[in-house]
Amino acid sequence: MSSPPSVSVIIPVYNEESGLPALFQRLYAALDQLGVSYEVVFVNDGSVDRSAALLRAQYQQRPDVTRVVLFNGNFGQHLAIMAGFEHARGARIVTLDADLQNPPEEIGRLLAAMDQGHDYVGTIRRMRRDTAFRRVASRAMNRLRERITRIRMTDQGCMLRAYSRDIIDAINACREVNTFIPALAYTFAQRPTEIEVGHEDRAAGESKYSLYKLIRLNFDLVTGFSLVPLQMFSLFGIVISLLSVLFVVFLAIRRLVVGPEAEGLFTLFGIAFFLIGIALFGIGLLGEYVGRIYQQVRQRPRYLIQAVLGAEDSNTAAPATPPAG
Ligand code: UDP
Ligand code: MG
Repeated sequence: MSSPPSVSVIIPVYNEESGLPALFQRLYAALDQLGVSYEVVFVNDGSVDRSAALLRAQYQQRPDVTRVVLFNGNFGQHLAIMAGFEHARGARIVTLDADLQNPPEEIGRLLAAMDQGHDYVGTIRRMRRDTAFRRVASRAMNRLRERITRIRMTDQGCMLRAYSRDIIDAINACREVNTFIPALAYTFAQRPTEIEVGHEDRAAGESKYSLYKLIRLNFDLVTGFSLVPLQMFSLFGIVISLLSVLFVVFLAIRRLVVGPEAEGLFTLFGIAFFLIGIALFGIGLLGEYVGRIYQQVRQRPRYLIQAVLGAEDSNTAAPATPPAG
């Protein structure tokens, strides 16, 4: 394969042994049908099951159109996709989950939308098949993100998306440790669009996102793309200070008119606890930003790659093209 393929499909894989065989079958069939040159880049995010072995076997079966990046540990879905971006050579890049919740048969429709001149094709899950809690929480997060960032998308959580090479090059130039790919890509998009895609139950295995990981991920989204939460604390602080000045004036006058009094102790406690709660939340929020700054300035490698299957082939198979810097 000497010239770059026209489509790269990037799939992060974390403990998906039970679903991978079905994915291979449907994905390659769907891509073969498209009639364009393609490559599939799997990124094994430190799976502890047989996923890595299955990926190796698949690579041996279709070495011409498959690449596998094997991580040294679990670095998270978004960093896995980042690593996929760095190893993808296609003119267009599609991201897809390994669990078949997003049907690979939809890739053709994403590419059709790109043919119309869009450089970013987002997706909206039609009849989303997740737990009620996930749906409600995700709707709330979508609304919050819509308010506090300049990112306009209907369904931020769906990973089946297509990006142009320009966007991917811009993302590859970013060294972000904590990020949220669809939002980051959106900030570089010039003509974004959205289409509806189908959504299915997880084919096998279970969700890799615990409630804790979901909360962490949403902090990445909020802190990575907005300073509004911090600014709201300054505004709130200003409002509280103004109110307390008024309150002090009121108390002073009342002292003169009514004389000394010492009631309302519990009201005072109530107000104090409320404000302490807000202050603690503010410190925690500050910590979220500071912690991310700390991770970023340490400049540790974002992920460690154990091996890449398919990389050497592309260099030796294409002696005409100079090795990419
Ligand atoms: N994933 C990953 N690393 C992780 C967690 C998840 O690479 O630490 C992959 C996982 O294998 C899947 C995709 O990210 O391909 C989405 O995960 P999942 O389906 O569990 O998320 P959900 O659909 O529940 O949001
Ligand atoms: Mg899923």
